[in-house]
Amino acid sequence: MGSRVDGKTAIVTGAAQGIGRRIAERLGNEGAEIVVADVDESAASDTAEEFRSAGITVETVQCDVSSMDDAERLIDRALERFGGIDILVNNAGISVGDRFQDIAADEWQQVIDVNLTGVFNCSVQAAPVMADQGDGRIVNISSIAGQNISYEGPANYTASKWGVIGLTKHMAWDLAEYGIRVNALCPGGTLTPLIEELTTPEDREETRQKIPLNRWAKPDDHADATLFLVSDEAEYITGTTLTVDGGLSLSVRHEV
Ligand code: NAD
Repeated sequence: MGSRVDGKTAIVTGAAQGIGRRIAERLGNEGAEIVVADVDESAASDTAEEFRSAGITVETVQCDVSSMDDAERLIDRALERFGGIDILVNNAGISVGDRFQDIAADEWQQVIDVNLTGVFNCSVQAAPVMADQGDGRIVNISSIAGQNISYEGPANYTASKWGVIGLTKHMAWDLAEYGIRVNALCPGGTLTPLIEELTTPEDREETRQKIPLNRWAKPDDHADATLFLVSDEAEYITGTTLTVDGGLSLSVRHEV
């Protein structure tokens, strides 16, 4: 075990599986006390149990980040259990819908509510606590879809991820004077349950061939990058986006 975030308290939303789970585990292995926050209570408890067996101090909170009441309860519970909140990783995200012209109004709203409003809800509840401490580190998980478009997901997903980057920059501007740093991480294609649902093995192979570093991202790649952004090594970094995509955004998609 390392100690880069020793004694810090970290909330990771959507931590029951996929990228969030790996981020939470990595922060836990580096000495942080972890709050696994997820809408899926049973998956969150299983994950927490595995973390506990690996020696990580962990609490679970069942919550839907799109609800402000749930976000408030999440922050209250973390404070009650650990007495402070140093790190917030807004990772929970979904993709619902298909081609633009087929996106239903409720699908539009659902994705914006979870992917974008969820970041606002958890951050606006955590920020006063961090401001009182004079220190806080927030990482919002956007996507390379937030810098271009999503080729696997629909337009509401793309719009939500552009929104996360704009929100990150404005939060960084407003919260800097309180010692709170806010950055966005933009993962490229990463093999997680979300991507397995959205793609076929053929799609995945086609994408792999376009990635300059010749493989899909692993949740570990994003865990390492997040650890950097929340550590003291990044103490002068705020309002930025860190792209972790093996060079995929450099590749030309359409032959001319
Ligand atoms: P995933 O579907 O594997 O895991 C998402 C987790 O979030 C699940 O545990 C789920 O229960 C939880 N969740 C969903 N809705 C929630 C809600 N309303 N409140 C609380 N928890 C909720 O997804 P993943 O691939 O690990 O993606 C994690 C993040 O990374 C998302 O924001 C996603 O958009 C982003 N991302 C993923 C990829 C990729 O290729 N997998 C690429 C770029 C960005």
